[in-house]
Amino acid sequence: MKKFTFERFARATDAATAVAARPAAMFLAGGTTLVDLMKIDVLTPDTVVDVRPLRLSRIDVSDNAITVGAAITNSQLAWHPVVRDRFPVLSEAILSGATTQIRNMATVGGNILQRTRCPYFRDVHASCNRRQPGSGCDALDGFNRGHAVLGVSEHCIATHPSDMCVAMAVLDADVHTVRADGTTRSIPFGDFHLAPGDTPHIEVALDHGELITHIVISNLPAACCSHYLKVRDRASYEFALASAAVVLDLDGDTIRAARLGLGGIATKPWRATEAEQSLTGRKASDATFRDAAEIALAGAVGREHNHFKIELVKRAIVRAFANAREAKV
Ligand SMILES: Cc1cc2nc3c(=O)[nH]c(=O)nc-3n(C[C@H](O)[C@H](O)[C@H](O)COP(=O)(O)OP(=O)(O)OC[C@H]3O[C@@H](n4cnc5c(N)ncnc54)[C@H](O)[C@@H]3O)c2cc1C
Repeated sequence: MKKFTFERFARATDAATAVAARPAAMFLAGGTTLVDLMKIDVLTPDTVVDVRPLRLSRIDVSDNAITVGAAITNSQLAWHPVVRDRFPVLSEAILSGATTQIRNMATVGGNILQRTRCPYFRDVHASCNRRQPGSGCDALDGFNRGHAVLGVSEHCIATHPSDMCVAMAVLDADVHTVRADGTTRSIPFGDFHLAPGDTPHIEVALDHGELITHIVISNLPAACCSHYLKVRDRASYEFALASAAVVLDLDGDTIRAARLGLGGIATKPWRATEAEQSLTGRKASDATFRDAAEIALAGAVGREHNHFKIELVKRAIVRAFANAREAKV
């Protein structure tokens, strides 16, 4: 591992200033992504600034929203009684990820900013436009079984790996940040992660040195009937091949409104808004859910080894909505 300086500050703006001042500086939270990637030379920061002393470890609950500090661990968020009660999709998504030990270390801010598990991104000898702009993409014609079918470009097909982010996308969370100069802003979750397009190395809508301070999730009464379904190669300690986060608002057996997020199959946490709209006013039957799944995957582009994901995620969508419907009955 390349040598680096480790720094701690008490104030968020001091931490942001320290990172903003050096192009090769990075924030460190639980380290479950960053330290892994430093060990294999994919990330080589010269300075690492710890976010954990910054007092970003609170969950505040009001009647209208919950506010989650960026340094709250994945376990703390998933097991919080209000989250389990108001937003089961979020709790289920987090608990489907990684292992208890990793969830105890991993933070919410770090989860949002975790990097792709694409093996070519993680191999410094491979070509990867995301890691090294302009170097090419070995995944396009390589072993792309785990790769994305939505939001892809001719420069990158890396899958966004987070489960939690799919639930945050479906709940329309807002990511709050602070910059070195003390200015703050709120970024809607759907605008936070960027599809690769021509610039796969630009993954999120953050400036260098901009610190995530907290996430706000506004109340959504229908979210008490929400669900996360994850399909993977083994039942634990495995990333999604396909996943669906759903919210179902029913009036009898008619769909008043629905929300649909997809994971494991897209280059960013994916929101299938056209499919959501198609569900409004229809009977909550498996046939209706299948129609929505077809709409959600209409633009999917499969490659040699990942074509199976298109049918797999359609079935996951139908099952996730059916599970949510049954929970409501
Ligand atoms: C073996 C293994 C299995 C896993 N399985 C899953 C899985 O099934 N599903 C899933 O969703 N995830 C999975 N993960 C990923 C895991 O959830 C992430 O590694 C974790 O959430 C990252 O959080 P962290 O606090 O450790 O981040 P770190 O590693 O500390 O940081 C990650 C990135 O976020 C940046 N960062 C951290 N905090 C802030 C902040 N407040 N503001 C700005 N930047 C910040 C860092 O600079 C770094 O770039 C797995 C990880 C491992 C190692």
